[in-house]
Amino acid sequence: MATATEEVRRVVFDSREASAMVEELRASFGSGKTRSYEWRASQLNKLEKVTEYHEAEIIEALRSDLSKPEFESFVQEIGMLKSSCKLALRQLKSWMKPEKAKTSITTFPSSAEIVSEPLGVVLIISAWNYPFLLSLDPVVGAIAAGNAVVLKPSELAPATSKLLARLLGEYMDSSSVRVIEGGVAETTALLEQKWDKICYTGNGRVGRIVMASAAKHLTPVLLELGGKCPVVVDSGINLQVASRRIIVGKWGCNNGQACISPDHILTTKDFAPILVDALKQELDSFYGKNPLQSKDLSRIVNSNHYARLTKLLDEDKVSGKIVHGGERDISNLRIAPTILLDVPQDSLIMQEEIFGPLLPIVTVDKVEDSFDLINSGSKPLAAYLFTNDKKLKDQFVRSVSAGGLVINDTTIHLAVPSLPFGGVGESGMGAYHGKFSFEAFSHKKAVVYRGFSGDASVRYPPYTKGKLSL
Ligand code: NAD
Repeated sequence: MATATEEVRRVVFDSREASAMVEELRASFGSGKTRSYEWRASQLNKLEKVTEYHEAEIIEALRSDLSKPEFESFVQEIGMLKSSCKLALRQLKSWMKPEKAKTSITTFPSSAEIVSEPLGVVLIISAWNYPFLLSLDPVVGAIAAGNAVVLKPSELAPATSKLLARLLGEYMDSSSVRVIEGGVAETTALLEQKWDKICYTGNGRVGRIVMASAAKHLTPVLLELGGKCPVVVDSGINLQVASRRIIVGKWGCNNGQACISPDHILTTKDFAPILVDALKQELDSFYGKNPLQSKDLSRIVNSNHYARLTKLLDEDKVSGKIVHGGERDISNLRIAPTILLDVPQDSLIMQEEIFGPLLPIVTVDKVEDSFDLINSGSKPLAAYLFTNDKKLKDQFVRSVSAGGLVINDTTIHLAVPSLPFGGVGESGMGAYHGKFSFEAFSHKKAVVYRGFSGDASVRYPPYTKGKLSL
């Protein structure tokens, strides 16, 4: 007899059902309805309404999945999604407009334009850490571009997944927008289908599975992955402001469970103790003397991730390096903001993405040495630098390869919709946000218009010597 857990994990959506669903969506897309401005705008409007009318339920679902503080849910998930919808609605007509392109002497006389066309039926697979925003933000781009969409939220944030399925089912046009809940089995059934684009947010191991499945159908992928985001800290800075901005990017973003949260700090040996003191002071003022009780910190998502994080902390060569925090409470899946100093490069904590409230500080002889250290590893999703030194800023921007860079702050590039958001190398491929979301789900079709006059005979056979000399 199946246990309760097996009962929940049984495949409720198999490949046959997935195939039937894709066929229905393809028929809907084929009818042309999703291409019209009116359909796109009405669906974007509905997404905005979902967010506006159901704010309290969204906050509650995020509290249930992650104990996410209401402020973070509101600013980092609900507010961001609303802004995305508003921007897309405001810009949609101009994004959809064909773009005039210059022609060349070879095609004279002619005119040319770039026409953005929807790709077709797209799949969006999202992650648990920002389960509302990371599910719907790509959906905004897919709809704005005129596609039919299937969203597969993360099973590790079950309350948000259930809420998304319910709300999108109630509000959106079900002939073209669907939500399929589930875990590996359901995602596998979905990945067996032919899609016109797959957008996946999550870890690189599954990213490889997604890309391999997509390759069978030559389906393009947008992979939003992770990595170890470094923060380089120079001396001679406003230490209080820098510490606050590091803290809010780390612990103020889902308690470090964010893809662009600082993973570790790189600074000089002399400056490290000064920085540690400043961070401790600000941490105390933000979260109090007993941060395990703080309502302003998310919990760890589940016991597997709790065990993974405590293993990083308990490794022999690391456990003696804690200079702040380290407290934990397994019954509530909470780990206090923890700072470690001088952890060895070969420790587990320096080998894998931390994705939690632990912040190791690695020391270097000269601050510039940090750049080589960053470039010697996998390319991060984001890298940060705190400095007042113009030369160092220039060197950082020129030499460090990462999905995005921020100087004298952390994580805020995410909130600039005129910037593409995405990784490079191991941290992903492709980008979205703002107009880049529209482009990520569009094909830019090259179109040349000609008339019948001015038909130069030079391009036609016979290819005489005289024609070559022209
Ligand atoms: P997760 O466990 O929620 O997995 C993501 C999705 O993959 C889920 O929908 C899940 O059902 C699916 N999945 C899991 N295993 C699968 C399998 N074997 N086959 C098919 N599908 C499968 O999330 P996660 O991977 O733990 O997310 C954390 C990672 O995501 C971190 O590396 C983080 O940096 C990265 N991330 C990146 C971004 C970004 O925007 N670049 C945002 C958030 C998280």
